[in-house]
Amino acid sequence: MDAAASDSVFVIDHPVIQTKLTELRDVTADHRKFRTLLDEIAGLMVYEVTRDWPTRPQPVRTPLEQTTGRVLARQVTLVPILRAGLGMSDGVLRMLPEARLGHLGVYRDEKTLEPVSYYQKLPPDIAQTEVLLIDPMLATGGSGSAAISFLKKAGVTNMRFVCLVAAPEGIAALHAQHPEVPIYCAAIDRQLNERGYILPGLGDAGDRIFGT
Ligand code: URA
Repeated sequence: MDAAASDSVFVIDHPVIQTKLTELRDVTADHRKFRTLLDEIAGLMVYEVTRDWPTRPQPVRTPLEQTTGRVLARQVTLVPILRAGLGMSDGVLRMLPEARLGHLGVYRDEKTLEPVSYYQKLPPDIAQTEVLLIDPMLATGGSGSAAISFLKKAGVTNMRFVCLVAAPEGIAALHAQHPEVPIYCAAIDRQLNERGYILPGLGDAGDRIFGT
C-alpha cells in the first residue's frame, strides 16, 4: 500500500486490484461485468482498509485444546452513499459478514454540483462502532463531506472513507473539512472535468453498476 498525497490518503496499489480496476475502467465492460469487478475489488480492499483495526483476545476450544484467539474489538457498520456505494457493499460484507448497514442518500445537483441529502438511516449505536463510509468515486468531495458531517453529528468518531477512484480535488475538499478522516482508494486520477467527472475515471459509476 502506498501512503500517497498525505499520511491519511492510502492508495491500495496491489497488482490484483490494479488489474481488476483496469478492466473496470474499460468502456466495453457491461453492467454485469462492472458489478462483478466492483464487488471483487471492494472485497479485496477490505484487507488493507482494516489492517490496523484493534483486536481483543477471545478464548476458543480447538479439537485438541483450549487456546486464545483474537477477534475484532469493535462492531462494524458499513455506510454506502446511495446509490453507487451499494455496488461495493456486498463485496465488503462478504469479508465482514457481521457488519450492520446504514444508508445515506446524497446526490449531486447536476447544475451546482452541490450535494443534496435525501435519505438517512443509521444503526442507533453507530457511534460505538468502526464505520466504513463507501462510495466508488471521490469526485468533488461534496457528497463525501456531507456524509461525514452527518456521521459526526450521529457521534461517529472512528470512520474511514473507502472509494475506488479519487480525484485530487475531491481529496483536497474532503480533507479541508475533515482532515482526520483517512481516505482509502485504489487510484488517484488526474483531475475533474467541467461537469465534475473524474478523468480518466470510469464514467458514471451508478449508471454503470445499475445499467441506467
Ligand atoms: N461520480 C461518478 O460516478 N463518476 C465520476 O467520474 C464522478 C462522480
